[in-house]
Amino acid sequence: MEKKIGSAALSLIKGDITHEETDAIVNAANSRLAGGGGVDGAIHRAGGPKIMEECRKIGGCPTGSAVITTGGNLKAKYVIHTVGPIYHDGKHNEAKLLSSAYKSSLEIAVKNGIKSLAFPSISTGAYGYPINEAAEIALKTVMDFIRADKGLSLVRFVLFSDQDFEVYKKALEKLTK
Ligand code: ADP
Repeated sequence: MEKKIGSAALSLIKGDITHEETDAIVNAANSRLAGGGGVDGAIHRAGGPKIMEECRKIGGCPTGSAVITTGGNLKAKYVIHTVGPIYHDGKHNEAKLLSSAYKSSLEIAVKNGIKSLAFPSISTGAYGYPINEAAEIALKTVMDFIRADKGLSLVRFVLFSDQDFEVYKKALEKLTK
């Protein structure tokens, strides 16, 4: 599914983000940049040890912020590592921090001349964010950003399951109705 937002395309696909050929892919990292399971583990496995070496030098990343490394052996030239919030009850600033994780990733992409970028569904795996709410926050944050900033030509969400893809599709339809 694809929607034109200003001069950019916003696309949703089901797939494995480590196969993406966008200029950069985003990693749902932890604040120590220590690697982990889920999409983080998949990206480090596919990208090789160079990415972790760079993460170690950077040292860490606060929740809601983003840092950038090269893409190692990936097709993507860069990996942007962002840290989404752990979901408690929705009353611990989770929505703001999730939006900030997306926005910080978009900002660091533009700063580095990146034109195309792929996101996973941040915080909706191990970090427990309810995906219906997270999808709406993710899409709205990206749409607001690409409407205002002309630096990016493609932002893609790569959803790992049919179910997740359907949730994002419905949320995008609702937001662009
Ligand atoms: P978090 O800790 O931010 O919740 P997870 O990695 O646990 O991060 O989950 C985030 C999302 O990434 C989940 O929906 C999970 O299914 C998905 N995911 C896991 N592996 C991949 C992959 N290779 N490509 C795209 N998405 C993935």
